[in-house]
Amino acid sequence: MESTDKKDAGALLQRALLGAPGRTALFLDVDGTLIDIAPTPGAVHVAGSLLRDLESLQSILGGALALLSGRSIETLDQLFAPLALAAGGEHGAQIRPCAGGPVTRAPGALMPDHVRAEIDALAASHDDLLVEHKGASVALHFRARPELEQELSHAVASMISNDRTDSLTVLPGKAVLEVKQTGFDKASALRRLLAQGPFRDRVPVFIGDDVTDECAIAAAAAIGGLALSVGRAVPGAHAVFDSPAAVRRSLAAIVRASGNPTEKPIAS
Ligand SMILES: [Mg+2]
Repeated sequence: MESTDKKDAGALLQRALLGAPGRTALFLDVDGTLIDIAPTPGAVHVAGSLLRDLESLQSILGGALALLSGRSIETLDQLFAPLALAAGGEHGAQIRPCAGGPVTRAPGALMPDHVRAEIDALAASHDDLLVEHKGASVALHFRARPELEQELSHAVASMISNDRTDSLTVLPGKAVLEVKQTGFDKASALRRLLAQGPFRDRVPVFIGDDVTDECAIAAAAAIGGLALSVGRAVPGAHAVFDSPAAVRRSLAAIVRASGNPTEKPIAS
């Protein structure tokens, strides 16, 4: 039987978004929240129905809908084309407050080359690891070698503690270790977005699934907004969605309830 929390997540979300659409801003993690996690980051699928629902919600909320992802905004644009949604990319190193508008990068948020080289060398010492280089971070994926988690975690922690820049941190995710610079994260991205453009002075709603989302869940709740997690209870989250599919169904139901669906077709 479904828990009360799981049943409540969709109702809480609908009440927050349709109760005061002119005063609410929606922030969405992507992988594991909006879309199902795939064996590799490039193998994910974004359905046309989700694109239509996001476009409708963007309209309902007056533009105050943003993706908050570890992926770069350029990659998000490829995944969600033809939409170019407002976003915080690379864990907040990049910000785009207006859909289709310019992307700004947090000062100093670029990963030094020597760190990239060290992660490349660590990945090359094992088979089947995948390194994803982004502007502000470098991600080591071990989905194909889950047994290496502890060994890789220790190696990356040691690398960071010995690094001369003293400005690195590691974000553990689902079968991924992401090394990034300190000073920005999804919570700082959420706060920066709330200070500008269509998000200004709105109450945040955030949905996320992973360890890297916990700071944004805490931030949204602290500001007086709604924080929802996916797949697991997170301290500070008001309710839990079962899965990304449950989040998608809820968003679709909210669009239908609003009477404002997007009519024009978007190819999947
Ligand atoms: Mg996620």
